[in-house]
Amino acid sequence: DGDNNSADAKRGVSGLVTSPDSSEKLPKHVPYLIIGGGTAAFSAFRSIKSNDAKAKVLIVSNEYHKPYMRPPLSKELWYTPNTNEKTIKDYRFKQWAGSERSLFFEPDEFFVDPEKLEESVNGGIAVAQGFSVQKVDAQNHTVTLNDGYKITYDECLIATGCAPKNLPMFRDAAPSVREKVMVYRTPDDFDRLRRYAAEKRSITIVGNGFIGSELACSLAHYSKENDGGKIYQVFQESGNMSKVLPNYLSRWTMAKMKNQGVCVIPNASIKSATRDEESLKLELNNGMTLLSDIVVVCVGCSPNTNLASPSKLEVDRTLGGFVVNAELEARRNLYVAGDASCFYDPLLGRRRVEHHDHSVVSGKLAGENMTGAKKPYVHQSMFWSDLGPEIGYEGIGLADSSLPTVGIFALPSATDARSSTDNLTVNREEDDGSKHTIIVDEKSNSDVVTWDDDAHGEQPDYGRGVIFYLKNEKIVGVLMWNLFSRVGLARTIINQNKKYDDLNEVAKLFEIHS
Ligand code: FAD
Ligand code: NAD
Repeated sequence: DGDNNSADAKRGVSGLVTSPDSSEKLPKHVPYLIIGGGTAAFSAFRSIKSNDAKAKVLIVSNEYHKPYMRPPLSKELWYTPNTNEKTIKDYRFKQWAGSERSLFFEPDEFFVDPEKLEESVNGGIAVAQGFSVQKVDAQNHTVTLNDGYKITYDECLIATGCAPKNLPMFRDAAPSVREKVMVYRTPDDFDRLRRYAAEKRSITIVGNGFIGSELACSLAHYSKENDGGKIYQVFQESGNMSKVLPNYLSRWTMAKMKNQGVCVIPNASIKSATRDEESLKLELNNGMTLLSDIVVVCVGCSPNTNLASPSKLEVDRTLGGFVVNAELEARRNLYVAGDASCFYDPLLGRRRVEHHDHSVVSGKLAGENMTGAKKPYVHQSMFWSDLGPEIGYEGIGLADSSLPTVGIFALPSATDARSSTDNLTVNREEDDGSKHTIIVDEKSNSDVVTWDDDAHGEQPDYGRGVIFYLKNEKIVGVLMWNLFSRVGLARTIINQNKKYDDLNEVAKLFEIHS
């Protein structure tokens, strides 16, 4: 634990240190109580504070760190020049824009000691680290911690986030195999994986989603820079990011990732894992065998809703997460924000979103409502991802590849917008029944009208473009592919909630050639 080294701090069974050393030292009552100490929690604190300047806010977090952001864990932190230090101090990293910052939202000094929160004249935020909330009694405004300690509140927010899933074959494996398998969500996971990377070990990532794909690119970069080990990425699907990207783009992305040095193995799963002295022997269902020093399982996560049942709170059967209304209320004076919130979006219906900006936006809204605003969730949050130097994208709304899509692309080199009559249009229907239209807005591609990427034939260069996701012929999601600073426009288009006759015309607003 880097945050608390006081000699008298209590060491739990795991060897980690709670702060304070006993729950008895926590306040018995707080005006604002937040369960979970992640992004949504910290965003809620900021908005509570801006509406109630002397607010006293207590976060109860079962992590042993102060609140921090997760996105750099799979991206920027891997681009920090290598030193011989075991850890990167304060997890500092260079943002793409060039400036440097820490993963932590605020330094330690920003926080009030939980023991002093009650008497703090100007209020502030205190974090009880290493404590878990087991139950919320919404009727009596009381939370119960894992050791039975009770705290009453005026307003409470549940912001418990998600926990990474594992695969049964690893969860049920022998300890010697399990010790070579990890999931990836925290700075401690970063430290552990960085040690393997620094030792030039071979790393196998399982999963084609956000973490798997981002991490594979980052590790391949790290490995190239440091003359490191092999980076494998194994998944069942036929390309990267297939839940978000239409099949043709998913496969194109996979080809780019291979160029970056990731050894991508699609259409495959791990059949068995056995251990020798040093490494794991992984047998795949396609007949391949990989020798790897560590497996990183990146197969999605599930919302932390353990406290739902004892608290008599509803969990959504399909989407998971605590069910809340458009104002993010589960019960009166009890809100849920971030990954764990299954909320009602008045425009797009019931949703659960697992992205950074949503946790900021929903945390902010919950904070406002905890101070009396009574506002609904109407600001569409966005998400972004980077897959090495050649691919960056931003999205908004429902970016779900099972929906019909229309993608309009420009070659990176093209500067002059052409008339829509110059466009090449191809309609594809995938095996899962999803329908995708591809429009390449560049004359020089007209010789590939009959391209067939299933046969690995020539493909257009999907270097830059915009993809519209449609439901009932209306645009419900927009993905901006290597196109930046257009989220506001995409948000306006989604909010218009109307049918467009010519999506080419809509695409022109995105100035994909400039
Ligand atoms: P969390 O950040 O998970 O915080 C929840 C906290 O609550 C945790 O500290 C948890 O330990 C604690 N907790 C849980 N249960 C209890 C309990 N009973 N008592 C006390 N504490 C509890 N999103 C993007 O949009 N862009 C990105 O580039 C991006 N990159 C990511 C990279 C990685 C490696 C990961 C893991 C995620 C990334 N995300 C990204 C997703 C984003 O980080 C999450 O959506 C966001 O962290 C959710 O915030 P949250 O506050 O809801 O949950
Ligand atoms: P994900 O949902 O993005 O991807 C999960 C992937 O797991 C699937 O695409 C599939 O390949 C695989 N999978 C699922 N079940 C499987 C099974 N039974 N066997 C084999 N493979 C299986 O989840 P993730 O990549 O683990 O990321 C975790 C969370 O972090 C997600 O909520 C994600 O949105 C978030 N995150 C977001 C970003 C971003 O927005 N840029 C970056 C990193 C993480």
